[in-house]
Amino acid sequence: MATVAAHDELNVYESAEARFEIAARQLGLEDGLYRFLKYPNKEITVYIPVVMDDGRMEVFTGYRVQHSLVRGPCKGGIRYSPHVTIDEVRALATWMTWKCAVVDIPFGGAKGGIICDPEKLSRSEIERITRRYTAELSEWLGPEKDVPAPDLGTDEQVMAWVMDTFSMHMRHTVTGVVTGKPLALGGSLGRREATGRGLMMICNKALEKLQLKPSQCRTIVQGFGNVGSIAAELMHETGYKIIGASDVHGGLYNEKGLDVPKLVDWVYRQHKPLPEFPGGERTSSQEILFRPCEVLVPAAIENQITSENAHRVDCKILCEGANGPTTAYADDVLQQKGVFVLPDILANAGGVTVSYFEWVQDRQGFFWRESEVNQRLQDVMDRSFDQVVELREAHKVTSRTAAYMLAIRRVASALRLRGIYA
Ligand code: NAD
Repeated sequence: MATVAAHDELNVYESAEARFEIAARQLGLEDGLYRFLKYPNKEITVYIPVVMDDGRMEVFTGYRVQHSLVRGPCKGGIRYSPHVTIDEVRALATWMTWKCAVVDIPFGGAKGGIICDPEKLSRSEIERITRRYTAELSEWLGPEKDVPAPDLGTDEQVMAWVMDTFSMHMRHTVTGVVTGKPLALGGSLGRREATGRGLMMICNKALEKLQLKPSQCRTIVQGFGNVGSIAAELMHETGYKIIGASDVHGGLYNEKGLDVPKLVDWVYRQHKPLPEFPGGERTSSQEILFRPCEVLVPAAIENQITSENAHRVDCKILCEGANGPTTAYADDVLQQKGVFVLPDILANAGGVTVSYFEWVQDRQGFFWRESEVNQRLQDVMDRSFDQVVELREAHKVTSRTAAYMLAIRRVASALRLRGIYA
C-alpha cells in the first residue's frame, strides 16, 4: 500500500494523521466517517491568570482538546511543559481515542496541556495554575464528560488539586473526575506501575510470538521516569537483561547488564544523576537507541526515531513506551528492517486501562486488591495484543496499522449505531 507520510516529519499531529489515513484507507472507511474521526470534537484554549510568589501576575496558556465522545467520556492526561503546543495536544488527544479503543475501554480521547516550566515554578504556583485551569474548564470536565490524568510534568498531587477544585465547584466530593490520584483520595492500587507493567506484558507476548525468552533479550530503555524506570525494574525482575538506560541528562551502557534495582535507588532515593551511576559506560540520551539489542523501549518523549536515524536502530522488537517516539516516515524504514513494532497505542495502554479501573472503583466506591488490578490488566493487554496480531496477519499490514484499524473500526461502528444528531 502507498505510504502516507507527514508533511512536516516532526509535527506529531501530522504523524498521527498519517497513521490514521493509512488505516482508514485499508479499512475502506466512508468519506463522512473519515472526516468526522479526523477532527477533534472540541478544542478549548484558556488564559490562566496567576499571582506568582513574588506578587507579579502572569498569564499562562492552557489547552484541553476533546477528540471523541463517541464511545464514552473523554479520557486523557494533562501535560505541563514549556514545549506544549496546540498541535501536540491535538495529536495526543487523537491517540487517546485510538488507545482506549484498541484496549476496548469505554472512553473517547482527550488531552490537556499548559505552557509552563514546572522546574521553574514553586509548588504553590503550580497549585494556583492547576486550580485556575480546572475552574476555567469545570463545565467541560466530570466523570461522565471528561476525565483527566497525569502526564509529563504533572503527578498525583496535581490530580488531587484538580479533584478538590472540581469538587468545590460541584459542592460535593467527586473522586471520579480524575485518575492517577493518591490512594487516600480514591486512587487505585497498581496505577503508578500500570504503564510500565503493561509495556512488559505486551513485550512478553511478542517474545512468545517470536519464540524468545526474556534471558535472551538484551534490552535498552530510553527515559527513566514513571514509565521507563518501572518497565526496566519489572523487566529486570522477569529476566530481561537491561544493558542500557538513559534520561534527559545522558545514557548508561553495560553489555553485561545494569544492576537496575541499584540504578533506581541511585536516581530515586539518592537523587543522583543517572549517567553518573558507577556500573556502566556513559553515552548520550539518544545514542543509546542505536546500540544492538533485542528489545528497544523508547519511553521518554516524541520524535526520537526519525527517517534520519531509523536505519541505525538495531533491535528485533521496538516497544513504544512514550507517545509518538517514532515518526511516520521512520515507520517504513523499520518495516524494511523487519523490526517487530509494538505501537504506542497498544504498548503503553496499560496506564489508561488501570485509569479506567480507578474510575470504575471510584464510581462503585469499592476498591480492588492490587493482584486483582494486575490480573485484569493482564487480561486486557493479552487480549488486545492477540487482536492486533490477528488483524496484522489477516491484512498483511504492520502492527501499527493493525492497531489503528482495530481502533478505528470500533469507534466507527459505535458512531454508525449512534448516528449523527441533527
Ligand atoms: P516522566 O516525566 O516521569 O519521565 C520522562 C523521562 O524521560 C525522564 O526520565 C526524563 O529525564 C526522560 N527524558 C526527557 N527527555 C529526554 C531525552 N531527550 N532523552 C532521554 N530521556 C529523556 O514521564 P512518564 O510519565 O514516564 O512519560 C514518558 C512518556 O510516556 C511520555 O511520552 C508520556 O506521554 C508517555 N506515557 C506515559 C504514561 C503514564 O502513565 N505515565 C502512559 C502512557 C504514555
